[in-house]
Amino acid sequence: MVQEQLNEVRQKIVQACERAGRNPSEVKLIAVSKTKPVSMIEEAIACGQTVFGENKVQELCDKIPQLPANLEWHLIGHLQRNKVKYIVDKVALIHSVDTVRLAKQISQEAVKAGVTVQILLEVNVAREESKFGFMEEEVEEAVREIAAFPNIQIVGLMTIAPFVADPEENRIYFKKLHQLCVDINKKNIDNIRMSELSMGMTGDYEVAIEEGATMVRVGTGIFGTR
Ligand SMILES: *Cc1c(COP(=O)(O)O)cnc(C)c1O
Repeated sequence: MVQEQLNEVRQKIVQACERAGRNPSEVKLIAVSKTKPVSMIEEAIACGQTVFGENKVQELCDKIPQLPANLEWHLIGHLQRNKVKYIVDKVALIHSVDTVRLAKQISQEAVKAGVTVQILLEVNVAREESKFGFMEEEVEEAVREIAAFPNIQIVGLMTIAPFVADPEENRIYFKKLHQLCVDINKKNIDNIRMSELSMGMTGDYEVAIEEGATMVRVGTGIFGTR
């Protein structure tokens, strides 16, 4: 079942890229395996999937040693500062950096571990009360502050769009995140070249790709409802 759904998602990604005149190699599919057992992750691996996303530090640390070492793990959920030390040398990318304090902690732990950590800044483009993330107008200042920290590299922006019935309703937010990325790159901030846009989930990843997503985070569409 995982394999059929995964192939269907892959096909839809290719089709969305065709509609947008983009090369499918520009879009990374992150299979969001949170709450799902290792056996289902193994089914996806058998289908060639190597990139997985988890939203909880504990769950991520439990799963990693049970699976092949060549996988790429992305932390996509809200991260508490006291948990940074457990994952700093285990993840390829942290998508959910939502405060400068958190970035500072990541930098400090990365120095201790002797690694450089790639991050995205989470932006609350829809300005939802319930969501984490920087407001659009706070992002440039945060980028400037974080750019000065050692062993941490901002590679792009991430957003979690509202839960909507019609994915077209979220197009405006994906456009906004893309534009924000372009605007910040134009400022030529030292050491900052943002190229990644992590946006789009099961309900809206095709629209997100049409608007420039370079990473889509799909859980339910691959592994079924949680
Ligand atoms: C759970 C989760 C997803 C995947 O959501 P689906 O709707 O199941 O595809 C994507 N991004 C984040 C941050 C999540 O927590």
